[in-house]
Amino acid sequence: MSQTRFAPSPTGLLHLGHAFAARVAREQASPGGYLLRFEDIDHTRVRPEYYAAAREDLAWLGLAPDRETPPQLERAARHREVLARLRSLEAVYPCFCTRREVEAEISRMTSAPHGPEGPLYPGTCRALEPEERARRLETGGAPAWRLNATKAATLVGPLDFDDRRHGRVQVDPGLLGDLVLARKDIGTSYHLSVVADDADDGITLVTRGEDLLPATHVHRLLQALLGLPAPEYLHHRLVTDENGRRLAKRDDARSIRHFRDAGCSAGEVLAMLPGD
Ligand code: GLU
Repeated sequence: MSQTRFAPSPTGLLHLGHAFAARVAREQASPGGYLLRFEDIDHTRVRPEYYAAAREDLAWLGLAPDRETPPQLERAARHREVLARLRSLEAVYPCFCTRREVEAEISRMTSAPHGPEGPLYPGTCRALEPEERARRLETGGAPAWRLNATKAATLVGPLDFDDRRHGRVQVDPGLLGDLVLARKDIGTSYHLSVVADDADDGITLVTRGEDLLPATHVHRLLQALLGLPAPEYLHHRLVTDENGRRLAKRDDARSIRHFRDAGCSAGEVLAMLPGD
């Protein structure tokens, strides 16, 4: 029995990349086990009309979910609870740095640590003395909370995850460094929310684009810290444009809506997607 989900962010129209992701989720699910969940924690970028547009486009493509689960914005209490648990384990620490301060610190370093997506957080606030940290927590505004990757790794020991395309993958806990698990402005992050929500929704197979493979190292670590079950994964290929770039929300020319309005049938749109 595989329960999967398609988890778009309602920040734009669905495009061919979403159609592919939804089709993979549908194909891999057992009957009745294909769910839709809106990832809308970044309320500054969400627009109300995109929820309905996504549901409609999915239905038009013949990829309507078996069930929709509550959007992430309705799960804020749960996300706060998960953060509190990570705090009690001291697997996270508060970070008071602004983006500009982080950039300045990185440019001062002769060899800043790098991850697959660029320079990693140099650890400035991890090194704060306990008194200074307590003082800033009291007097400063809401901090961000960062993973203490080294501490987290020692708490849980070696880990791996199974991916249907990539095989068994050994977790590298430091791959993304001390990344932000709770942003100052929204109190959570994609990483923290997706781990909690997939567990709460009973997702047994997470299907998503292979650009998120590095993030899964962190997700597996969080699952182990929180005592949540480890789902199986399938990181699928990305749909790209003719220049090999992955499609983005701004590519309106490849939105499902654009093809519908141009008179294409759903079958014709699905035929534009890669084969696996
Ligand atoms: N919300 C993400 C996206 O739209 C999907 C992330 C996931 O499936 O874990 O790309």
